[in-house]
Amino acid sequence: MHVAIVGSGPSGLYTADALARLWPDVEIDVFDRLPTPYGLVRGGIAPDHQSTKAVARAFERTLSRSGTRFLGNVEIGRDLSYEELKAAYDLVVFSIGAEIDRPLGIPGEHLRGVYGAAAFVGWYNGHPRHRDLDPLLDGKALAVIGNGNVALDVVRVLAKTLAELADSDICAHAAERIGAAHLRDLYLIGRRGPVEASFTPIELAELGELQRCDIIVDPAAVSAEVGPEVPEKEVKVRQRNLEILRSFAARVGDPKPMRVHILFNAAPVAVLGEERVTGLMFERTRVVEGRAEPTGERFELPVDTAIAAIGYLTGPLPGVPFDEKRGRFANDEGAIEPGVYAAGWCKHGPRGVVGTNRTDAGVLVKRIAEDFAANPPAGGKPGSREIDLLLRKRNVRVVEFAAWKRIDAAEIARALPPKPREKFVTAEELLAAAGD
Ligand SMILES: Cc1cc2nc3c(=O)[nH]c(=O)nc-3n(C[C@H](O)[C@H](O)[C@H](O)COP(=O)(O)OP(=O)(O)OC[C@H]3O[C@@H](n4cnc5c(N)ncnc54)[C@H](O)[C@@H]3O)c2cc1C
Repeated sequence: MHVAIVGSGPSGLYTADALARLWPDVEIDVFDRLPTPYGLVRGGIAPDHQSTKAVARAFERTLSRSGTRFLGNVEIGRDLSYEELKAAYDLVVFSIGAEIDRPLGIPGEHLRGVYGAAAFVGWYNGHPRHRDLDPLLDGKALAVIGNGNVALDVVRVLAKTLAELADSDICAHAAERIGAAHLRDLYLIGRRGPVEASFTPIELAELGELQRCDIIVDPAAVSAEVGPEVPEKEVKVRQRNLEILRSFAARVGDPKPMRVHILFNAAPVAVLGEERVTGLMFERTRVVEGRAEPTGERFELPVDTAIAAIGYLTGPLPGVPFDEKRGRFANDEGAIEPGVYAAGWCKHGPRGVVGTNRTDAGVLVKRIAEDFAANPPAGGKPGSREIDLLLRKRNVRVVEFAAWKRIDAAEIARALPPKPREKFVTAEELLAAAGD
């Protein structure tokens, strides 16, 4: 059985793990377009959340299994086509995530100083594609639009002092810029109310621990209660969020040099400015049955930079059936075509934490096993043999697992303690560190 997994993030690697348990002799090639594995564990999860990133150790064991290969720096759709994968492997699983920022869809969003969270987070986390984002952090006010954990991450990283970031793996270029910024007011803005916010309580509470930052919440804005429309399993989390927000609203003490303002019930309707953002226009909303409804009342917020953290889309790949409306691969419970499946964010959209992908992978692999039992594959596919020939013919510089480990060791070796690693942030640097 020859298997190709496209994307070495959590969903791809948990799927590889589950497949290896199902079929101990399976040969798995895990492709990634980056020379580095682990997807958003490296390039998304906040640099000051090192304990969450430690899941990479388990993924390392998955990639070290004999019979599993890592083929980094190989982009499907560029270096190999969908048709070539289908011709070579009995089973193809796409797990390419959702790396494109969902647009705000309002006038002015293309002005200078407006960024999507995928790009901004990729910039501070050293994703080679976003290394040169060069975000404008020269003003006093910055808004983050979104009410999820990604929005919290962005605000927290910007609000921390360099001392607070010292034991994180934030990239040097980003730490330098954040350290030199003179931001005073950070706004965290949600379209809906505090009950609907999708923060997790631990991350929300963490905002309250920032050394140089006050958290400003209007007590009236957090007076709502969790209503009967909230699903039972969500009630505790929502109540805990409300408690934390109310504790922020009740705070007294000496003012700190920075402020995070948490605003609710404000839907962005326009980005203001001529060439560069100078402000945002919002319409106040009220929540009806969990949905934000406009009230007709508008207000403006002067800001120098705006970051939209409102969700992600998967980019289409030539030949792979795509659901344009939802921005992900067209699939039925993971099945794209016979022998082709989707896992993780490119299957169901950008939701869930790392661990969610593990549960999902188990369900997907059970489904694959059932499909293959009902319709056994014809067999006789060449697997890696054919793919290696194609890659060699096309002069693709494949970064295998041992080469990734050289990058890993070099990043750790060059970091100044207590920093755990200093990432290489361009393709050239990464390939140089990978060696021959
Ligand atoms: C900013 C941010 C912070 C987060 N923080 C946390 C957190 O603190 N804790 C937590 O539990 N979860 C967190 N999550 C959620 C978690 O990261 C996701 O659940 C998980 O990464 C989704 O896994 P995935 O495999 O579907 O996608 P990804 O992790 O995005 O992996 C996709 C992989 O596919 C590769 N790829 C893409 N296109 C191609 C192609 N054409 N050819 C080859 N390879 C390709 C990419 O390079 C990438 O390595 C966070 C998410 C984000 C966005």
